[in-house]
Amino acid sequence: MTSTPQKTAIKGGEFLIRETPAQDIFIPEDWTEEQRMIAQMCRDFLEQSVFPNLDAIDQMDAGLMPSLLQKAGELGLLGISVPEAYNGIGKDFVTSMLTTEVLGAGHSFAVALSAHTGIGTLPILYYGTEAQKEKYVSKLATGEWKGCYCLTEPGAGSDANSGKTRATLSADGTHYLLNGQKMWITNAGFADVFTVFAKIDADANLSAFIVEKGYEGLSLGAEEHKMGIKGSSTRQVFFNDCKVPVENLLSERGNGFKIAVNILNLGRIKLGGAALGAAKEVINKAINYSNEREQFGRLISKYGAIRQKLAEMAVRTYSSEAATYRASQNIDDATKAYMEGGMDEAMAKLKGTEQFAIEAAIIKVHASEALDYVVDEGVQIYGGMGYSAEAPMDRAYRDARINRIFEGTNEINRLLSVDMMLKRAMKGELALMVAAEKVAGELMSIPDFGGDEPDAFGKLHNYVSGFKKAVLMAAGGAVQKLMEKLSKEQEVILALADMLMETYVAESVLLRVEKLSGQTGDTHLQMALAQTYIYDAADRIHRAGRIAINAFAEGDEKRMMLMGLKRFTKVEEINTVALRKTIADQLISGNRYSF
Ligand SMILES: Cc1cc2nc3c(=O)[nH]c(=O)nc-3n(C[C@H](O)[C@H](O)[C@H](O)COP(=O)(O)OP(=O)(O)OC[C@H]3O[C@@H](n4cnc5c(N)ncnc54)[C@H](O)[C@@H]3O)c2cc1C
Repeated sequence: MTSTPQKTAIKGGEFLIRETPAQDIFIPEDWTEEQRMIAQMCRDFLEQSVFPNLDAIDQMDAGLMPSLLQKAGELGLLGISVPEAYNGIGKDFVTSMLTTEVLGAGHSFAVALSAHTGIGTLPILYYGTEAQKEKYVSKLATGEWKGCYCLTEPGAGSDANSGKTRATLSADGTHYLLNGQKMWITNAGFADVFTVFAKIDADANLSAFIVEKGYEGLSLGAEEHKMGIKGSSTRQVFFNDCKVPVENLLSERGNGFKIAVNILNLGRIKLGGAALGAAKEVINKAINYSNEREQFGRLISKYGAIRQKLAEMAVRTYSSEAATYRASQNIDDATKAYMEGGMDEAMAKLKGTEQFAIEAAIIKVHASEALDYVVDEGVQIYGGMGYSAEAPMDRAYRDARINRIFEGTNEINRLLSVDMMLKRAMKGELALMVAAEKVAGELMSIPDFGGDEPDAFGKLHNYVSGFKKAVLMAAGGAVQKLMEKLSKEQEVILALADMLMETYVAESVLLRVEKLSGQTGDTHLQMALAQTYIYDAADRIHRAGRIAINAFAEGDEKRMMLMGLKRFTKVEEINTVALRKTIADQLISGNRYSF
């Protein structure tokens, strides 16, 4: 099984102030035989049913996408996280993340599937009554019915709680009348079940409703013409005195925004998983192409310019993967602990995910940006063919871009990651201020150069521990200096968010390789990935730290903090050109991404 009983429980966000032993984290190398088989089943599905149909999917051939979802449902792929009682197979979160990752390579199909299994199914699974779950989730899990989630409106995107769609109770009290308009709704064109967010009367907060396709007063706009994911149905949904039975109110009146936020927490980390799958697929194609294309009498995979790109694509993907599965297992562990404390399964899963909402926001941003880097370099490696609509990079490039926009834009997720950290500190849930004060004290002291020379992992741990100090110092300084004005200084928060993200991912990749080294003999390739990431992360953290500190500090305080930042992000010089050569050798000789 995936959990180790002797683990010390860690809270969300606590990574910044606590050391995590490597053996406590889940790494993809820990997959069980059963999990590998599930992953293979997903891969086979893509190979047999999705990849041969990519053009037809993008042309929106009538009935194709719903039939693919139906087929996936028959194989059990839509019910991975749904309990057996509702026709699912009830697997844990890391397993559902694995299927999300593998299927994430499926372009528009991946989006339709994620929307259906995530935002289309989970609100009802987690917040529905027994009768609602039996009626809807049982059919969504098999693919008999398809689901979608209607939150966004023309005037309410990032500010999702500001929607104008209204619900009023009918005079006889039997149903609500919904009036309004939703926009950008994935799967709307063929969905049978719509989870719709609307305010009842003049409520301040949203409520949520389960709406069926056939309800009077529901109509659809035309398909949107999009930059990418062209095969994914995206439409407006209109409600004109749409009659929704009172028993289809989901959860309680006014609870909709909470539902939306909690489901988005899950969606964010899942998006990270899907981006990984897409990135690995692009890396494989780029390696294959560079091993076939000759210029100046040599394969382009022999050129350093191409090799360093392939290596960096792998570095970012591998590191993002480390963070994604680390946090996924944290969610499983927290869920288990809540259930052991007497909480029911649905609530425990929600609480477990909420606990790691900071990590989920970080992963959403990191993985989507890693994917954008990967597809961009993928196009470049293909040269002119990268720009051809006949070759695969065109679709990969266009389809990747949406990931930085939906499930909360990357700006919103960056802002949220820092905001959630600070709020937890204010509430006394995270001892950040004590840790920040300790770092501030350290700034005044002379650095300790004594002690034995650490081994390679010891050195990397020292670097990551320095990164944490850099974040604590900059964030602590910003809070102290700007106080309540900090929330208005988005540029500073975004820089702090980058520092936080780089620190989490750097630690995750280090822990992954450290754990792996205890399991297998030779990890020099993985070490090269970790060292490259961490070395570059030091620069990125240093840069973001300077931006933040220069924006809020002055005089001696600024000088002191900048010196501290330099100290906390100092890493020994290493030859990353050589490290990337080692990584590229492995990719090119194996002709595939194999980490
Ligand atoms: C293809 C596609 C599929 C989608 N699927 C669904 C779906 O199934 N269901 C659903 O409900 N929604 C869906 N969405 C909507 C999506 O979640 C929103 O587009 C997204 O949340 C951003 O909202 P917006 O488009 O209104 O952008 P806006 O909120 O207008 O943002 C515009 C820009 O301003 C920035 N910004 C906004 N507010 C702030 C702030 N406070 N501080 C700093 N910067 C800010 C944003 O980061 C962005 O860069 C989908 C969108 C697309 C394009």
